[in-house]
Amino acid sequence: MPTILVVEDSATMRQLIGFALKRIPEARMIESTDGVDALKKLSTEKIDIILADINMPVMDGLKLVSLVRGNPVYKNIPVIIITTEGAEEDKKKALAIGANAYLPKPIQTQDLIKLVNSFIS
Ligand SMILES: [Mg+2]
Repeated sequence: MPTILVVEDSATMRQLIGFALKRIPEARMIESTDGVDALKKLSTEKIDIILADINMPVMDGLKLVSLVRGNPVYKNIPVIIITTEGAEEDKKKALAIGANAYLPKPIQTQDLIKLVNSFIS
């Protein structure tokens, strides 16, 4: 049963992503509202993949990726970054610091499912 950590400050986006992830059989979604909250969840749950927004209060997605990659316990967890449409710099930065892939907003359900499946199956 894959556990997916969704890190996103917008409740609407979390809901939308959660709805899409229901198409992955047996997937369990854990929600976080920012990077610090995500680190807390990582310390208490076994996470198989992280889906993270970039722009968030408290700790943004890029900082989260660099901390995850710098931590020996978490460094191999796949990370998909959710980017704002056309934010080329953000995409490049995210991949450079160790994100595995990026998903542009507005999120297309099919793309999200395909990408997540490519890391968990
Ligand atoms: Mg945001």
